[in-house]
Amino acid sequence: MSRYVVRTYKVAVPKELYPLCAELNKTAARIYNKTMSLVKKIKYKKGFRLSPNNTQKYILRWACSINVHTHSKQAIIQQYFQALDSYFNAVKTKPDLNPPYKRKRFMPFIWKDTAIKLLPDGKLKLSMGSNREPIVIQTTLLADTKIRQAKLVYEEGKYYLHLVIEGKNVARKPQNGKIMAVDLGILRPITCFDGTEVISYHGGILNSLIRYRNKELAKFQQMLSRCKKGSKRYRKLVKAKKKMLRRTRHQIKDILHKITSNFLKMCLQKGIGTIALGDVTNIRERVEGNDSANQKLHQWCFRKMVDMITYKAELLGMDVKLVPEEYTSQTCPMCGSRNHSNNRNYKCQNCGFKYHRDGVGAINIYVRYLGKKSQVVAGLAPVRGVRYKPHLCGHGVRNAPWKAA
Ligand SMILES: [Zn+2]
Repeated sequence: MSRYVVRTYKVAVPKELYPLCAELNKTAARIYNKTMSLVKKIKYKKGFRLSPNNTQKYILRWACSINVHTHSKQAIIQQYFQALDSYFNAVKTKPDLNPPYKRKRFMPFIWKDTAIKLLPDGKLKLSMGSNREPIVIQTTLLADTKIRQAKLVYEEGKYYLHLVIEGKNVARKPQNGKIMAVDLGILRPITCFDGTEVISYHGGILNSLIRYRNKELAKFQQMLSRCKKGSKRYRKLVKAKKKMLRRTRHQIKDILHKITSNFLKMCLQKGIGTIALGDVTNIRERVEGNDSANQKLHQWCFRKMVDMITYKAELLGMDVKLVPEEYTSQTCPMCGSRNHSNNRNYKCQNCGFKYHRDGVGAINIYVRYLGKKSQVVAGLAPVRGVRYKPHLCGHGVRNAPWKAA
């Protein structure tokens, strides 16, 4: 059986197309704003929200003079409804949220697969509707590449096409049923349990980077609050702040890549078939502290890690299953009673089971995935730590860049 992996591929847009790109991204924002104001107005005047279908009918009629592919218009309308959906999901836990209200000046223009054609010589043809010349961009893609979507994205002064590509998987290995349970965290980015031993990755360098970033950010905020908005110094500071944020974001991403690559290499060596991942969609409770910027960053880290583990595992022919992780760090894997632990050591008040707290989370995810209750684990070896060695790191992982500590 062959499976597909969806991946994003970035193509630089040639400079001479930049004015057109700006126009397209403006058009996208126009359609988005109109969609938003229509839905809002009807909600305000009539008291109900227009359905996506009806909105689409109306907006497409309104936009009939805008000369782009109809499916592009539809995709942009759908963007608004996606934002609305995620608002409805989020508002369940955060009741003071607002529905999407910000008018946009620019937003990524989208082509759906029906408007994209890849010619045999690698030229990409993006349809612009019936009475306009299509955009043609040279790429290095192979002729049989299947492109699902193209997005015109503006990044740091340049335009890129983000192509969503269906990539064929490497041949799937036979499932041998071995399972690796993973508990994600910030202090310890990955703690995993394969039924016999617990391995925990140190997050020291990741945390020091996050701390550094927050300290710098606070410094910038303080300096910004002291100078006049819009002044030359203000603008300079904003630019410097953005640069710092960008740099640290890239560094964090790099570390996450190295951690996940190393972890998956280990899974491959152990012959793992399925990775059971603690579901971190409602991660808010796990993030310590009230600083919202910090929370956002942590949430970003978690999501990034889940994405990376998922796509890397799929490329190696492993399955990834999400497991609800409520109370996994509190429940005792021996007797199932719940205990709070206030330091890094877990101790069960009921049966006296003692273990490292992060390990408990991974063991519980393992147990929960198998659907058996407390069948584990007498005489468990202590947690094996894996420490980060930046100067030895590399994605190819010839020699293990992480060292057992
Ligand atoms: Zn117990």
